[in-house]
Amino acid sequence: MKIPFNKPFLTGKETFYINDAVNSGKISGNGKYTKLCHSFFEKKYEFKKCFLTTSCTDALEMAAILLDIQPGDEVILPSFTFVSTANAFVLRGAKLVFADSSNQNPNIDASKIESLITKNTKVIVVVHYAGMACEMDEIMDIANQYNLFVVEDAAQAIDSFYKGKPLGSIGHLGAFSFHETKNITSGEGGMLTINDEKFIERAEIIWEKGTNRSAFFRGEINKYNWVDIGSSFLPSEVVSAFLYAQLECLDDLQKKRKKIWSKYFEAFNLNQNKTFELPYIPHYATNNAHMFYVNFKTVKERDELIQILKKNQILAVFHYIPLHSSPFYFNKHDRRILANCDRFSDCLVRLPLYNDLKKKEQSKIINIVNEL
Ligand SMILES: *Cc1c(COP(=O)(O)O)cnc(C)c1O
Repeated sequence: MKIPFNKPFLTGKETFYINDAVNSGKISGNGKYTKLCHSFFEKKYEFKKCFLTTSCTDALEMAAILLDIQPGDEVILPSFTFVSTANAFVLRGAKLVFADSSNQNPNIDASKIESLITKNTKVIVVVHYAGMACEMDEIMDIANQYNLFVVEDAAQAIDSFYKGKPLGSIGHLGAFSFHETKNITSGEGGMLTINDEKFIERAEIIWEKGTNRSAFFRGEINKYNWVDIGSSFLPSEVVSAFLYAQLECLDDLQKKRKKIWSKYFEAFNLNQNKTFELPYIPHYATNNAHMFYVNFKTVKERDELIQILKKNQILAVFHYIPLHSSPFYFNKHDRRILANCDRFSDCLVRLPLYNDLKKKEQSKIINIVNEL
């Protein structure tokens, strides 16, 4: 019995909606299914406006363009994240200033942000790791005090909340991922959320290659033109139709994922002989069961577990190699030590978590971990 790390969840209706999109004759972007997805998200999560994109990477790139990042601007972000969080801003010439993770979970340590602010700081980017909220009140207060923008990398954070507010609806902008490793998927896909109205009009232009084509199609202008920079950020209707099928099942899917997550948590919580820490969920955060990880005391113990699981044909994985020690950014980083980030990178391991994970399979994983 081979247990993969992830299996994308399919509702069974994806090809039905794709067929409908294909048969309608409109398969480029911003058609019926793109609009259905937009209104689903805007209604359910109170985003002022959202734009489906071809990936979360693209949504972050749109965010960096919208915030008018210029060479020399500084962006404060966690080092413990995926490269896309950083690349979007580096592409516009920004300098990255990495903040350490908190002691209790891999999220940015809000109390470390203020000391990193200089006259060049323009944006704070937070990453809601494992779909668990960062300390947003504290971060928004700092941003307001210093006139900074906040971008939420909510790639992992669909259907998760901070003090009752949906993640991705708190910062000026938010970015979600529908990559096949995330809770809901269109294979590759993403979404930019806009919570500050002043960005909406320009976002639509950037989304449409820097043209005012959307306004043209609405009949607001009689010809469309090149009016700004932009790119091809919008997905085709084929992708949006796929995603729409997933949205219909979002609540059921979340229930199932949370059940699997809780089974891991309860099984390991019973184990008194603690060789590892369990995920820490702050009182202000919900858990959307995006991932289940445990955090060992040493890299040796962590790697040992991965090896034992591998011998049993179970794939567990770790991440991230910190961006501040990456081959690309190491020499540009200011040499500050980010101890919590390094510890999570060395000691954290993610266990298989997907909708089709069978009870028997999960029990096998739990037994192996508990015997360790
Ligand atoms: C998955 C992920 C991304 C990238 O998402 P894509 O849709 O694959 O571009 C960015 N940031 C974080 C934190 C992620 O987990």
